[in-house]
Order: sequence, then structure tokens, then C-alpha cells
Amino acid sequence: MRVVVDTEQCEGNAKCMRICPEVFRVDENDKLHILVEQPDEALRQRVQLAVGRCPRQALRLLEE
Ligand code: SF4
Repeated sequence: MRVVVDTEQCEGNAKCMRICPEVFRVDENDKLHILVEQPDEALRQRVQLAVGRCPRQALRLLEE
């Protein structure tokens, strides 16, 4: 799986970071960084939760 962010939609509210800080980091300028673009399967549940809870629908999970 690969995590993709739509930077136009992301408003940097860090909800994703609170759910899965191993993958998502919002910096002091409210900019989101994907720390691991292809997270380990062990993180799938929380990555999916973060994607689902993004209020801007800025995150997508691609299967490859
Ligand atoms: S939850 Fe969505 S809007 Fe908020 S920082 Fe993460 S990607 Fe951006």
C-alpha cells in the first residue's frame, strides 16, 4: 500500500498524525509530511483509520 496526500485539500489539522504518528507528521507550519510512503502491513489498520478520519478527505491509500 502507498499513502498519497492531496496537498491542496490538506489543512494541516494533524488528525492523521494523532492516529498514526509513525506515518504522518504535521510540522510547525501546519505542513503534512508522509514519513513512510509505503507503510508496513502492521500499520494498515491505523493508516486506514487516519485516511477515513481526515475531515478534508485529503488522504488516499493505493494498493500496488
Ligand atoms: S487529517 Fe487530513 S487535513 Fe488533517 S493533516 Fe491529515 S491529511 Fe491534512
